[in-house]
Amino acid sequence: AKADGSRARVEVHEGALSDSDVDALQLEVDLRHALDNDELRLFYQPIVHLADESLLGYEALIRWQHPTRGLLPPGAFLDAAENNRLTSKLGAWVLRRACNDAVTWPEDLRVHVNVSARHLAEDGFSELVAAALEESGLEPSRLELEITESTALFAAEATLHSVAVVTDQGVTLALDDFGTGYSAITALHRLPIHTLKIDRSFVADVVAEPATAALVQGLLQLGRGMGLQVIAEGIEDLDQAAWLLDHGCAMAQGFAFGRPAPLPSPTDVLIGEVTDTPAEDVAGALLP
Ligand code: C2E
Ligand code: MG
Ligand code: MG
Ligand code: MG
Repeated sequence: AKADGSRARVEVHEGALSDSDVDALQLEVDLRHALDNDELRLFYQPIVHLADESLLGYEALIRWQHPTRGLLPPGAFLDAAENNRLTSKLGAWVLRRACNDAVTWPEDLRVHVNVSARHLAEDGFSELVAAALEESGLEPSRLELEITESTALFAAEATLHSVAVVTDQGVTLALDDFGTGYSAITALHRLPIHTLKIDRSFVADVVAEPATAALVQGLLQLGRGMGLQVIAEGIEDLDQAAWLLDHGCAMAQGFAFGRPAPLPSPTDVLIGEVTDTPAEDVAGALLP
């Protein structure tokens, strides 16, 4: 690879790598550049109490404001970061930015930050969390880290130790996309989980499919029995919200309550309104 203007190009000899290898390398180079050039953004999606729709906090969701391809969702670039040393650089950027943003919000609001398995397993992860909290001045109890079942399941002893150090500081853990992994129940046993996030694939069918309804009832019961907080993900309509509330789910997140959007200023958070939203991410609350 050699530099070409401000943006490096990946150059390879014919036949050495497949087209998709070259694409992946180019994406990695561009992502490195994006980090250095402030092209990454954190969008925030509200998490609400179902009973009164009051705000519990926000989940930080990364976006890439790409100079030529426009606003990219994490699915378009996160895998490129997972395969190399970018993981910790990107994860550190997200944590620091989220803590710095959250400290400007009203004090009862929490921030949820997604953490990749690879980053969590790295040396220095717990020190990074401590530094992000210290530098921002955010109360540790206002930070919740979201991890997936496979992260919890395959975590090595070093990771479990790192997690213990982080949770000892008062930071909490959420198990994301609950029910979609290999062994949700085992994951619950291995790590000090505070919150279950029921995957949106279940929520989507909960009203129409009796089998899914039974499954979600089981998950809710499990959460209650273990004394966990439960958040249903991907609520898109009122019927889903009503069903979940009826069945004892206290918290939710989904397009019905607000799409991920930039948070321009603390004032906007206070009045519960998001402005300056790109067309594709217009915050549309369906609920009255
Ligand atoms: P996730 O953590 O499960 O986040 C929820 C995803 O569901 C988000 O997609 C959100 O936009 C989408 N969503 C929320 N409500 C609804 C709804 O009502 N309907 C539908 N159809 N979708 C809804 P997004 O932002 O594309 O993020 C995808 C995934 O990328 C996240 O899933 C998370 O696993 C990962 N991710 C996002 N930001 C970060 C980050 O900063 N670091 C890491 N490591 N992963 C991230
Ligand atoms: Mg998440
Ligand atoms: Mg999820
Ligand atoms: Mg997900």
